[in-house]
Amino acid sequence: MSRYIATRAIRGANAIVAEADGLLNKAIAEKGGDFPVAFPNTAYYLPVMYGMLGAEVSTLGQIEPILEHAKNLLHPLPDEQLWTPYLGETLDCGMSTLLAAEAIEAIRFVYGEQPEPYPGLELAGATSFTSPDNGGGPAADGHLNGPIDDIQLRSWGIQLVDGRMPGFAAIIGAAHSNKAAVAIIRELQKRNILTFLTGNVNGRSIIDQLVEEGVEIGYDTYIVPFGRDTISAIYAAGFATRSALTFGGMKGGQWREILLYNKFRVFAFGLALGEVDDLKYATAAGVLSYGFPVIADTIIPEILPTGVTRYEHVISMPWNEIEGKTEEEKAAKLVQKCIEVRGVKIQITEVPIPVPYGSAFEGEVVRRADMRVEFGGKNSRAFEYLLMADKDEVEDGKIELIGPGFEEIEEGGYMNMGIVVEVAGRKMEKDFEPVLERQIHYFVNGASGIQHIGQRDIAWIRISKTAVEKGLTLKHFGDILYARFHGDFGTIVDKVQVKIITEPDLYAEWLEKARAAYDERNVRIGAMTDESVEEFYSCTLCQSFAPDHVCVVSPQRLGLCGAYNWLDCKASFQINPTGPNQPIRKGQCLDPVKGYFVGVNDYAKSGSHGSVEMVAMYSIMENPMTACGCFECIMMVIPEANGFMIVSREDTSMTPAGMTFSTLAGMAGGGLQTPGVMGIGKFYIISPKFIPADGGFKRVVWMSSIFKEQMAEQLKQVAEREGDPDLIDKIADERICTDVEGLLKHLQEKGHPALTMESLL
Ligand code: SF4
Ligand code: ZN
Repeated sequence: MSRYIATRAIRGANAIVAEADGLLNKAIAEKGGDFPVAFPNTAYYLPVMYGMLGAEVSTLGQIEPILEHAKNLLHPLPDEQLWTPYLGETLDCGMSTLLAAEAIEAIRFVYGEQPEPYPGLELAGATSFTSPDNGGGPAADGHLNGPIDDIQLRSWGIQLVDGRMPGFAAIIGAAHSNKAAVAIIRELQKRNILTFLTGNVNGRSIIDQLVEEGVEIGYDTYIVPFGRDTISAIYAAGFATRSALTFGGMKGGQWREILLYNKFRVFAFGLALGEVDDLKYATAAGVLSYGFPVIADTIIPEILPTGVTRYEHVISMPWNEIEGKTEEEKAAKLVQKCIEVRGVKIQITEVPIPVPYGSAFEGEVVRRADMRVEFGGKNSRAFEYLLMADKDEVEDGKIELIGPGFEEIEEGGYMNMGIVVEVAGRKMEKDFEPVLERQIHYFVNGASGIQHIGQRDIAWIRISKTAVEKGLTLKHFGDILYARFHGDFGTIVDKVQVKIITEPDLYAEWLEKARAAYDERNVRIGAMTDESVEEFYSCTLCQSFAPDHVCVVSPQRLGLCGAYNWLDCKASFQINPTGPNQPIRKGQCLDPVKGYFVGVNDYAKSGSHGSVEMVAMYSIMENPMTACGCFECIMMVIPEANGFMIVSREDTSMTPAGMTFSTLAGMAGGGLQTPGVMGIGKFYIISPKFIPADGGFKRVVWMSSIFKEQMAEQLKQVAEREGDPDLIDKIADERICTDVEGLLKHLQEKGHPALTMESLL
């Protein structure tokens, strides 16, 4: 253990605790001890204080004892004579640094100092920064991010759980050059590592470097700029703490469990770029206590023995000494080292294309002004179709571009295109076609400079000018699909061949074939009933953060996240027989209307670890299915209207229940059964098995207008099925009313059937 590091960390800690103390005294004098403190759009109070000390801090005055605690953790500078090579004192100082930093950030919010504005920073996916209740959010208008809001934390949940997002890197400082900054970020993105940006070196931050180089920054590209000072690194510690609280089921004050959870479950590391000052040493010491190693690109003393972290604690890898001719080569080595030190294997499928590739680019947007060419959208059409073919008909690795490329198309122009993927494999089944086809969206989107929206014959693809300048062509779509289908679905797919079709006649011919297949599939899943199968499927993917939650997925009721229907679960089981989707034998049917099955009850009981006794597949009022947190919509009883409302995740307006979606989400989630409240996938609304026990679709009295728009055709058919062709008009939405009075008025005027149905309660 280096005495040098200890000295500097201890000095940094003493200074920041003193600074926090001064700020707090001033704030209390000016605002009063009862003045509220909170981070916007996050739960768990001030998360590090709550996680480490169990302190539910909600006023300025409540920070005082925290800082007292921080002071007690401080140590005097190590004495040359008394020095022992022991990390404890440094770690204590690290923790007091984090507590002080969190106090300072909280006080900044008290003074309305939102994370500093950043002129000219147009954040990628700014909409996702704007949580529904946030009225704009700290980052939506070019501000730096501040704490990651809860909705975003949860929506990363599945990716963190299934390993698509292995963890995070907290960068402090600025890279050797702009080019180096971009190269480092690209290496991290390639591995889908979430990256937090903080700090500066002599006033210059990696954030500046990336903005100057036009790198898209934002939740959608996995790059979160916390702030340009070192103190903002506290949000990384907050994120780690909240992950343990949210996903690991830990309680406030379980500091040991929380730190160990991070050490063993969260793949994270700190990366100090540029000169390391006292405060950075102190902050790094705080990072170490979470079990995260710190790697520096400058010469600093190393801490090699393991213990607090799994492998080495502090590693120095001076940029000038890294072997490599280009910045890219050096960056690759540096990031590789970080990953080695953290000790986690990351599998990346190498995709041989001339632009960066990884799921970090999935949400990337190609704006019209940056666009070289588009396929689909307003002026043209793009379709994609994956089909199973005979082994002998598929030549593995054959990628054809049939017809002209886009070279002749004017800049910003458009053309028709079809992507046809033919696969063969001993374990391949016709039912897997749509599941695999849907992956095209994710796979293609992984390329930097390609934007993919939609599916089937309403796909919409854009390619950026930058990507084309780097050499991206249509043929590369085939390279991407070939590599990814083998890489991700190698267990069911043995051979893959891809046709990219722009030649008009062949395009028309395949479009017709594709449409026939889409229709057939609609009929197939549409024709499948819960009665027609012997098995339903479980989904427990969300248990890592809702430990007792189980989705039971049947042909007529998809998972509440909307991402898993019965066929998907079946395919997933076949691909990974020990995975989160297991067949559930229905067993004897106890009640066909409410949907009680012996097998489902048994499974629900064991899958929920005893917290649920029975599950009614088709009721919201009696033993409804539990919810984790990723539901597409929330249904809730409106007793006055004798019916239910359905609110979409995308709807930020007030509802007749007196709550917005995000408030309701707090009531519906957590893996509990709450009669009268249920999270559902939106396609369940149009299912014939939509709550028959409670009166079916006729009970819907209010729904977010977005459903009426997105599912107009299907809802019309449902209304007809229910024998009330005008039913959709009788259902209110947020454009008509957002309170109960308005709702009742609308229902009476329109003669909604729910008013005369049997009482729900
Ligand atoms: Fe989570 Fe249910 Fe979706 Fe599975 S089906 S991912 S458990 S919400
Ligand atoms: Zn979930």
